[in-house]
This record gives sequence, C-alpha cells and structure tokens, in this order.
Amino acid sequence: MKCRICKEEAVVALQSHNTAFCAQCFLNFFTHQVSRGIAMFDLFQAHERILVALSGGKDSLALCLVLKELDYKIAGLHLDLGIPSSSPKARACVEGFCAKHSIPLHIVDFVAEGVGIKEVKAKLRRPICSACGTLKRYYFNKTALDLGFDALATGHNLDDEVSRLFSNTLRWDESYLSKQGPYLPASPGFVRKVKPLWRVSEFVTANYAFLKDIDIHTAPCPYSQGASFPVLKNLMHNLELAMPGRKLDFYQGFLKRGRPYFAANTQPENTLKPCQKCGYPTAAEDLCSVCRIKELLAS
Ligand code: SF4
Ligand SMILES: [Zn+2]
Ligand SMILES: [Zn+2]
Repeated sequence: MKCRICKEEAVVALQSHNTAFCAQCFLNFFTHQVSRGIAMFDLFQAHERILVALSGGKDSLALCLVLKELDYKIAGLHLDLGIPSSSPKARACVEGFCAKHSIPLHIVDFVAEGVGIKEVKAKLRRPICSACGTLKRYYFNKTALDLGFDALATGHNLDDEVSRLFSNTLRWDESYLSKQGPYLPASPGFVRKVKPLWRVSEFVTANYAFLKDIDIHTAPCPYSQGASFPVLKNLMHNLELAMPGRKLDFYQGFLKRGRPYFAANTQPENTLKPCQKCGYPTAAEDLCSVCRIKELLAS
C-alpha cells in the first residue's frame, strides 16, 4: 500500500479515513488532527501555560510530546498513587520521558499526602476506583490552580470520549451529558480542563507513540478488575470496524447538537461551597470527599 500524500511505502493504514500514510506523513497527520482539535474549541492559546497530566501511558505521553513540538508552554504533572506493583514503574517512565524531552515535571506523592491508594483501599468499604478517581481529579485541579496554570490537559482520546458518551447515554445522565466534551471552562475553585486528543483514536495515538519511540508504562493496575469501560470500548471498536468513521461522527454530532440540548434543559447542580478544611468546592455541608478520605485514614 502507498502513502496517500507522497506515494512512498505506507506504514499505517487508517480504515476510518480510508487511507494510509508513510511514517512522516502519518506524524504530520497526527499533529494536524491535534491542532485542529485545539482550534475547533479554542482549547487554549499559544501564550497560556498548560499543565499536562502524565500517567505514563501512551496517550498522556503522546499528548505531551505533540504539544511540546507545537511549541506550547507545557509542564507535566504525575500523581504517584502509591500502588505497590505499578506506581514506581509509572513514575520512572514519566521521569525518564520528561528528562529526555526537557519537559518540567511536577510530582504529587499520594503517600506523602496521606492518601496512598494501597492504604485507602485497605480502609474503604466501597470500590477503590471511585475513590482513586476522586483523589486524582482533586490533585490535578489543586496542583494546576496552586501553580498558576491556565489549563489542565488530559490524554483522553476519541475512544475514551465515545465510550464515556455511550456510558452516559446508557444511563441518560443529563448532568454529564450537559457538559461532556473536550473543553470545560474554569469556574470558581476549578481550573479549565481540556482534552486535545479528542479527534484521534486510541489506534492512531498508539501509532504516534510507537513511531516517536516513546517508552510507555504498560503494567496494569492490580486493582483494575471489573472496570466497565473495556466492554464499551470493544462495542465501539466493533461499530467502527463495521462503519468506519462513525465514532468521530457520533461524537461530533453530540458536541454540535446533543450537548447544547442537554445544557439548555438540565437543572443547574447544587451550589457548591468551600470545604471547611481545604477550601475545595463541595456540595457537602462540611468536608469535601478528599478531606473525608483523609479523616478516615487518620482514624
Ligand atoms: S484501576 Fe487503579 S489507578 Fe485506575 S482508578 Fe482503579 S485503583 Fe486507580
Ligand atoms: Zn508519505
Ligand atoms: Zn477538603
């Protein structure tokens, strides 16, 4: 198969675009898709400071590298979750990546913060992933605000977004459907959140990471059993095989027509108040859920 652009031998075939590219034309294609995704929703400007959440997986590292090559003012943020078999490897991978590409890196150590996930799991009576997600969102937001960044960028790709949309739709969760998307504006106590990879699939991002020789962290979290997202991702994957290009159409159609509808017809959420201990916005009367987890661990 030949590259659609330069007619050299192709190395990546993209069924969804009914095309194939050589390595260099594929890298140009990826960069163009990300730039277009940033421009379409005005995610951020060239002068703004962007904190990129780095888990060590292919998506976050690919995002960080493409933003660096596009000359955005970026720094990385890694949350060391304190999970025995996977966190040290993830941290080493992110540190190696940032050193190799001269990208400033901030690390939040959950054990030092008193919220190591191993300890939280031992104390908590509910599934750990929900508490882990709450803690991650809290520290991403807090660190971006404390360090004065204009936005927090995450490596969610098209497959992540479409699976989440499908999950929100299965539950007809109007609150999430009214705000899901690549851009969540800043509000009191919350930094702007952006997802610059929203137009590119997991397959495309994986190819970018491979061709750019990015060392990625692949050790699975030992607590990850039972997650429902792989099921939804497989469904979407099969849909894309049968109907190439439908994933992006579905998601773009939602952003254009579905989200505005839900945003206009959904009751505003409860007013948030500052947590009495840390000041983070919360719907609870006294303490936010992170301060409650900390209290539980200290008891
Ligand atoms: S799978 Fe592991 S890292 Fe992911 S949310 Fe669950 S506990 Fe946290
Ligand atoms: Zn080419
Ligand atoms: Zn709090």
